[in-house]
Amino acid sequence: MLSLSDTSTAVRPGHNDPATSGDWRADLRDAFRDPFALCDHLNLPKSLAETAEEANFPLLAPRPFVARMQSGDPLDPLFLQVMPSAAEGRQEGLPLDAVGDLAAQRSDGLLQKYQGRALFILAGNCAVNCRYCFRRHYPYAEAPKSDAQWEPALQQIESDPGINEVILSGGDPLVLNDSRIERLVSRLEAIPHVARLRIHTRLPVVVPNRVTNRLCQLITATRLATIVVLHINHPSEINHEVAEAVEQLRNSGAMLLNQSVLLKQINDQIDPLTNLCERLVQIGVMPYYLHQLDLVAGVGHFGVPESVGHELIAELRRRLPGYAVPRYVAEIAGEPHKTVLA
Ligand SMILES: *Cc1c(COP(=O)(O)O)cnc(C)c1O
Ligand code: SF4
Repeated sequence: MLSLSDTSTAVRPGHNDPATSGDWRADLRDAFRDPFALCDHLNLPKSLAETAEEANFPLLAPRPFVARMQSGDPLDPLFLQVMPSAAEGRQEGLPLDAVGDLAAQRSDGLLQKYQGRALFILAGNCAVNCRYCFRRHYPYAEAPKSDAQWEPALQQIESDPGINEVILSGGDPLVLNDSRIERLVSRLEAIPHVARLRIHTRLPVVVPNRVTNRLCQLITATRLATIVVLHINHPSEINHEVAEAVEQLRNSGAMLLNQSVLLKQINDQIDPLTNLCERLVQIGVMPYYLHQLDLVAGVGHFGVPESVGHELIAELRRRLPGYAVPRYVAEIAGEPHKTVLA
């Protein structure tokens, strides 16, 4: 006899619906790219899309993520994360590389800032373009495109016994298909000093279909301890499909963490932030970091003063068990680790 939980994982809702047929590549292809189409879909005024043209980073919002937005609400916290706005074009005083990524580049696609950990930039794109992203100016055209272009970075990792953790990042590493990720992981597994694999990704959140059986089998099979760090900023991002994708990842044996960015109008209020931490714990994801926004040109309007961040963390500590409170961190160029603010 099937238990209730068996049936809920065996049948993914929406799988018979051609719009969400379980094919993550189709989800990527069908993402919203036109601000007018997105506003029309959400019953929002055209005028919002007209000002979007002043932004210099294109709209990209997959439909499974858009489906969690409230129709008719121009201040929906998910909509605000993806919709280009005129404010982005008016921030000339801010830098392009606030966190010193260019200085930390060791070879094509490999960044190392911190001891033991090297960040491998596998892809030049993401499944979603988050308006507040500090990487919006990164020269992704230089990210490796073919397996052969991974070689300099792999040789760098091979020749440095101090690297025991490889962080797959991007862009979003999970925009690559499973066979490429398998090839990369088998190369990394063959390097004796590499013990851990970390995957920084927003794909299981914005396109839950990306969590394929093949990806989960790879995580189960690898000798590398695997940590998947998701990126969720608001509790409305977590629906049933995200919870299921997370459950599959957990069943594969991966450790699941989440990082958020503290964002004005999105999660700078205590109630949504508390709900986010509670929902994360409920689905089996540990709140890891709450990042102070990295200020680069185009993202200044999302900034929240550090004093507000301190108050929010203090209140989270009163409301929640200790394990549910993320570390409030900032990335300061040149420091040997992320700076813990609270
Ligand atoms: C944030 C970051 C890491 C990971 O830092 P942790 O504190 O271990 O999560 C590693 N490399 C780079 C370049 C980073 O920016
Ligand atoms: S998914 Fe991450 S790297 Fe990609 S745009 Fe969003 S914040 Fe930036």
